Amino acid sequence: MPSPDVKCEVNTCTHWLPGGYCSASNIDILNEEVGQMSETAAQTECKTFSERRGIANMLGSLDNVNWGGLAVGMFLRGNQVTPTVTCVVDSCAYWEGGNLCNAEAIQVTGRGAKECQATDCHTFITKE
Ligand code: SF4
Ligand code: SF4
Repeated sequence: MPSPDVKCEVNTCTHWLPGGYCSASNIDILNEEVGQMSETAAQTECKTFSERRGIANMLGSLDNVNWGGLAVGMFLRGNQVTPTVTCVVDSCAYWEGGNLCNAEAIQVTGRGAKECQATDCHTFITKE
């Protein structure tokens, strides 16, 4: 089952780790407008984004943490902490049936975002 490495610059997200890692166990990439096919990266979003708001919010996010990946990442230098990716953006060239992404790596952008809509899957490319 393909699943890309995830690099992320959204440092305002509760799942974000220094170095551009994502500590979530799974992320959902969606079209910003439900039912509308994305034609550009800006029309996609990381729905798993959750704004970091101090300690209460950090604790609230602990049910979606890739603890195994974190432990491995700490012991094996260079080994990435990375979530699995579920993506419904079927207008993307990397999209595969079953809501999979077959890119080797994806880049999630939207530094300083305060809501999901301000994040993008920068790796999106249109099928045509
Ligand atoms: S915005 Fe998405 S990819 Fe980035 S850290 Fe948050 S959940 Fe992970
Ligand atoms: S590269 Fe395409 S298929 Fe992969 S997560 Fe981004 S939008 Fe979805």
